Amino acid sequence: MTDVLAPKTLEELWSFLENEPEGKVYAGGTDLLVWRRARGGHHGPLICLERIDELKGVREEPGGLWIGAATTHRRLLDDPRIRDGFPVLAQALAVLGSPPVRNMGTIGGNICTASPAGDTLPPLYVLGAEVLLLFRGGERAVPVASFIKGPGLTALERGEIVSGVRIRYPAGFNRHHFEKVGQRKALAIAVASLAALMAVSASGEIEAVRLAWGSVGPTVVTSPEVEAALTGRPLCLATLREAAALAREVCRPIDDLRATAAYRRQVAGNLLLRLGI
Ligand SMILES: Cc1cc2nc3c(=O)[nH]c(=O)nc-3n(C[C@H](O)[C@H](O)[C@H](O)COP(=O)(O)OP(=O)(O)OC[C@H]3O[C@@H](n4cnc5c(N)ncnc54)[C@H](O)[C@@H]3O)c2cc1C
Repeated sequence: MTDVLAPKTLEELWSFLENEPEGKVYAGGTDLLVWRRARGGHHGPLICLERIDELKGVREEPGGLWIGAATTHRRLLDDPRIRDGFPVLAQALAVLGSPPVRNMGTIGGNICTASPAGDTLPPLYVLGAEVLLLFRGGERAVPVASFIKGPGLTALERGEIVSGVRIRYPAGFNRHHFEKVGQRKALAIAVASLAALMAVSASGEIEAVRLAWGSVGPTVVTSPEVEAALTGRPLCLATLREAAALAREVCRPIDDLRATAAYRRQVAGNLLLRLGI
């Protein structure tokens, strides 16, 4: 039988973490509990973050928002500040798992799982999000691209938790786009996904663009080369086709049970073509 500890304050959490060196934190448990059942491995106590109010909710900050790590996907989707200010993130949250998974799963859990297929990650990369790491006595902020070190690997150190994520309103970007391709239409883990922010002028020129692909590399793939190939060009099929060819070269997919690397490479390019719609 596993002990589950449920601190209600950060002070209690730090004590549990210090007294239980084998303890592992979780929030919604939709990744960790499935992983424990499937693979075993961790037998120490579980420390639940769900009851700690300081880790939940959305707060306005100058130029952007603070999102608590233990905030569920459902709660974020219901927040008009996310839906209206960060459509690229809202679009990803809307297709993450199923209603029960969105009711339980949290943004902090999605980030800390560090899966190449984690749906919130490509949007957080294009938004230049900062991950906030809390430890007894301090906090540090790390850009999301530095926080994610590899599949399942993060910059979290012993005694630290993720307390939240900070995102800034992407001024000037008038198009937000997220799309994932899976093996089926609902409840699908991404075979490939793309988050994009674009600034498109009234005459149809791409003035600026930020792109991030999921599931086509060990971590989220970004490419200054593909962004440069689009910038200053008309938003049309010919431009997107050239960029798509480049995108297929820069991604580093693998074969796995969901798709071959070759298929993922093809889809990574095809997803760009949809930016013209
Ligand atoms: C049926 C099903 C479908 C799914 N579909 C999708 C999908 O379509 N897209 C997708 O991206 N994911 C999907 N997932 C995975 C999962 O639901 C998400 O990754 C979810 O966001 C995880 O959040 P959680 O709070 O449940 O994480 P948990 O399981 O609680 O934790 C996950 C990991 O993060 C760590 N952790 C959690 N919170 C913190 C914190 N604040 N600080 C430090 N470490 C922390 C835990 O130790 C653990 O290692 C699916 C899962 C299931 C079971």
